[in-house]
Order: sequence, then C-alpha cells, then structure tokens
Amino acid sequence: MEAFEKNIRRVDPYVPGEQPRQKAVKLNTNENPYPPAPGVAKALREMDPADLRLYPDPACTGLVEALADFHHVGKDQVFTGVGSDEVLALCFLTFFNSGKPILFPDITYSFYKVWAQLYRIPFETPALDADFRIVKEDYYKENGGVIFPNPNAPTAIYEGLDFVEDILCHNRDVIVIVDEAYIDYAGPSAVELIGSYDNLLVTQTFSKARSLAGMRIGYAIGSPKLIRCLHDVKYSFNSYTLNRAALACGEASVRDRAYFEETIAKIRRTRSRAMERLAGLGFSFTESSANFIFASHPDCDAKEMFRALREAGIYVRYWDSDRIRDYIRITVGTDEEMEKLFAFLEEYMAKGDKRTC
Ligand code: PMP
Repeated sequence: MEAFEKNIRRVDPYVPGEQPRQKAVKLNTNENPYPPAPGVAKALREMDPADLRLYPDPACTGLVEALADFHHVGKDQVFTGVGSDEVLALCFLTFFNSGKPILFPDITYSFYKVWAQLYRIPFETPALDADFRIVKEDYYKENGGVIFPNPNAPTAIYEGLDFVEDILCHNRDVIVIVDEAYIDYAGPSAVELIGSYDNLLVTQTFSKARSLAGMRIGYAIGSPKLIRCLHDVKYSFNSYTLNRAALACGEASVRDRAYFEETIAKIRRTRSRAMERLAGLGFSFTESSANFIFASHPDCDAKEMFRALREAGIYVRYWDSDRIRDYIRITVGTDEEMEKLFAFLEEYMAKGDKRTC
C-alpha cells in the first residue's frame, strides 16, 4: 500500500436511483412527470448566452426574494443551494458539531447516514414502529441534533405539526431539521413553526412538486441567525452554488403559484386512483402523503417483481435491506404511465407463478 492511501477519506457513498438512457416508464426517483411552469421555458428562452461569461449572483437574490414572498418569511430567513442535498450536507457540517450522537430514524433517507459518516458525526437511528411510524418519544433523550423527513421517505407517512412541535419542545438546545422534500403532497409545513422555534430548520426542494430536478435547487428556512451560520459555511466552501439558469428557472417557478397547485392536484388524484388499483391487486401499503407509494404484496417476492418490472422497461425503486426488502417504492407518474404499470402487474399476477409471484 502506498503511504498516501492511509490518509484518503473513505466513505460508503449514497446510491442514487437509476437514470435509464433508453425510453422507460420512470417511476423510480420521485420526479414529477409533468413539465415545470411555463415561465421556466420563457426564462430559459430569454437567457443571453453571452451572460454566461459572468459568475452568477452568489446571494441568489431574486430567488431568495421569491421564496421569502411565497413562504411569508424574511429574506434573511432563506438559504438556497444546489438541491436540498447540498443544503442538507451544509446543515450537517454547520449544526451537528457537539460530539453527541445525532438522531434520525432507522428507515429514512439514506443520505443522512452518509453525511454523518463523511463528517464523522456520531449518530443513532431509533427504529420506526411496526407500522413504520416515527416514535417521537425516542427523540426526547439527550442528543447532538435531530433530522427527519416529513413525510418520511420511503414510507410516505406524514406526521402533523403537533407531532413536530413535540419533538421541537424536547430539543430546545439542539438544531432540529425537518426535511420537507415531499411536503407539497402532504399537509401543513413546519415553516409555520419557524417564528416560535429558533432551533428549527426546514428544508424543501424544487425537484419534486416544482418539476425541476434537472436544475438542482433546494433551500432551507429558519431563523436569521441559523441562516447566517449557513451562509458563513457556504462562503467558506463554494460561493457560487446555483448557476444562472437555475436562478432564473427557480424564480419563474416560484412566481407561478397557480401552475404549482394544479400540478400537485393532478398527482394527488393519480395517487388516490393508484392506491385503489394497488389495493385491488392485493398490495398493502402505507397511507401515502407523498408522490410515491411504498407497497408490498403478500404473494410476491419484491426483488423479483422489481427485476421483472425493470425488464419490461418500468423502473421502480427497491432496497435489499432489513425491514423493507418486501417493498417496492413506486413514484406516482401520469395516469398513462400508471396504466402501463398496472397492465404489467395484472399480467404478472395472473401468471400465478408462485416462484416469482
Ligand atoms: N430529502 C429526501 C427525503 C429525498 O427523498 C430527497 C430526494 N432524493 C432529497 C432530500 C434530495 O432532493 P434534492 O437534492 O433533489 O433537492
């Protein structure tokens, strides 16, 4: 072994969902099947390539103003980054430094564990209960910070603001991050609680309900003090995060509330119909408050089903890990895409091959 090798930082990286190169029914990474708001196309058309010689606005002023208006908070309460992944990575670096273990659920967004390992932050992962619900009392003990998604991923379960507040009340001395990547498909946002809890940070994304996964835009909302701390860390790492196209598209998206709400309503309608169809086929699943359904079938091997679907050009997500290896996660697509999924599943079940199903 060369001497330098012992000083390389080694981590088990996060594994992103597959992005197939050929045309597929893509229900595996919780993207939005509908295009972004029409203003986004206009913003791109109006971009002058000559401006690309200039750096983008490091303070992301236009986007921050649009988000502050949208959420009825101050401009000094908004922090933006390259997807909520970057925002969350900077939050871990900024806020989880006490040396005490941070807490997040055993079944949750798998990137949390990766960031904890990357930054050498100790962590504990309290188990979800048998119904895949977060047990709030597990978060009342001494800790170095708390993070959980609401709705949780991949379970799709949303907990109300009373639940979030109970966790906040018991954690006044640490930062509590509520990752609201899927909140637009669920209930009220914890942004409502920002004024009452200066230890609360809420993160959201443009990748799901705003149909802008390809632009990589995420943000955090919190007290001006927490946002200042995040800025200090960002400017100690990379000052120009969001590029010019992302800033223009992001702002155009936020300014079109009607389109945003219309798209969410469409996904919710398709989600209800999909849950009915899945139930009819004998699947069981958690009540989804997100744009995906976490489903299992008593007679089907989930891994085999995942493979068979993939072979048929229908991509869903599967994790071969404890407690969830009997489940597949299906992103809610268009009605047509869901029809293709159900047509396949009906045939797959009808085959009655007990080995695979
Ligand atoms: N949080 C959760 C719970 C997610 O599922 C995702 C999407 N993979 C993210 C954060 C990150 O989303 P993005 O970086 O696209 O904003």
